[in-house]
Amino acid sequence: MSAVSNIYPTAALQALDAAHHIHPFSDTKALNEEGSRIITHADGIWLTDSNGNRILDGMAGLWCVQVGHGREEIAEAVNKQMSELSYYNTFFKTSHPPAIALSEKLAELAPSHMNRVFYCSSGSEANDTVFRMVRHYWDQMGKPDKKVIIGRWNGYHGSTVAGTSLGGMKGMHEQGDLPVPGVRHIDQPYWYGEGEDMSPEEFGVHVARKLEEAIDQIGEDKVAAFIAEPIQGAGGVIIPPETYWPEMKRILDERDILFVADEVICGFGRLGKWFGSEFYGLEPDLMPIAKGLTSGYLPMGGVLVSDRVCEGLIDKGGDFNHGYTYSGHPVCAAAALANLEIMQREKLVERVADDIGPYLQNRWRALGDHPLVGEARMEGLMGALELVPKKGERKTKFADGGSAGTLCRDLSFQNGMVMRAVGDSMIISPPLVLSHDEADQLIAIASKTLDDTYAELKKDGKL
Ligand code: PMP
Repeated sequence: MSAVSNIYPTAALQALDAAHHIHPFSDTKALNEEGSRIITHADGIWLTDSNGNRILDGMAGLWCVQVGHGREEIAEAVNKQMSELSYYNTFFKTSHPPAIALSEKLAELAPSHMNRVFYCSSGSEANDTVFRMVRHYWDQMGKPDKKVIIGRWNGYHGSTVAGTSLGGMKGMHEQGDLPVPGVRHIDQPYWYGEGEDMSPEEFGVHVARKLEEAIDQIGEDKVAAFIAEPIQGAGGVIIPPETYWPEMKRILDERDILFVADEVICGFGRLGKWFGSEFYGLEPDLMPIAKGLTSGYLPMGGVLVSDRVCEGLIDKGGDFNHGYTYSGHPVCAAAALANLEIMQREKLVERVADDIGPYLQNRWRALGDHPLVGEARMEGLMGALELVPKKGERKTKFADGGSAGTLCRDLSFQNGMVMRAVGDSMIISPPLVLSHDEADQLIAIASKTLDDTYAELKKDGKL
């Protein structure tokens, strides 16, 4: 591809892309008319496009490039592993050193009650694994009626059939007649958008109790598990009120159901702890992981499995009839090990907790003073800005929901930074290696982008 990008000008690349490439989560017809942006290189937190523009990667790719782009150390580890053992499977009584070493490393980093990992290639596959694993667990424990999995509206757990079903994205459910049977959804802890007249504290408890209500309604003897992201990422960086997780924990402790914390975004330092569950003091039974595991250098996911689940899954014996050709892929495992080695050596997780996290959070929250911003929130290194037409009026939204966000996203790109829009919320989740100087640049671009968006919206009579 780099050869192609050196030879072809941007327009030719865009034409080829339009002719042959179907993009994820895209209106391909509209995209083909507009032409995709072509990213050719990346280094640290900076992307370079095919026109030579440098762009600050405010999203760490897709919430995954913890150690920054272009780390030679990972490339070398991958290269070495490619020459030694480029592929072998982990079925049929075989294993290999990279999968073994990575499993040991993950058991070291995970909470002490989690000592085993099942591998796959993505977050979606991790949640497909969860779907099958929790039902298999209850079968093994002699409670085969426990089948229902409870998720949350606007949660995101991937794009496969099980991932989409567990997630609560209505636009995704509409395509393909999902969710599959046996999945229920409860409300999300989105105070800014759905808290009505309650205080955040009241709302946190109120919405947590929806889990209790759902379990009682379905019958505890039929509920297998509850799945949630510690902080919803793709749903719009929904940081729950402080009362939410403690109340959820009370309910989960009282009920005989499994708790699945989807750590695909919150894991690997994003919240200043190795896992988001630790940040909130949660003790999950299963943790799907992906993204930051390899910093996105190669595709890899997994499910961290608690000792409790291993009782049913392993100690009771019998096959778990589930697995992927690339479960524990040696080259991906080598990339993960090199990535985790960098994260530990450079103390990136600690840095998010004590240094760059608080530094960026203070500046990001100050963007809340902007006339276009209703709320500026950030935890660890993931944040959101709620764009609103009338500051101070939480319930007043833009009439054509989403177009202010799309405009702001496009202007951000023009100003040299990737910010993602979720409806009219702007999202960032930069690499954990972000320096103070780069954080200042991020805030300066975000601030200018808000000014530009405000001016455009005013011009169009939308404010
Ligand atoms: N779970 C969560 C919380 C996610 O954010 C994502 C991806 N954004 C997934 C699962 C799915 O991961 P993947 O795209 O690797 O399949």
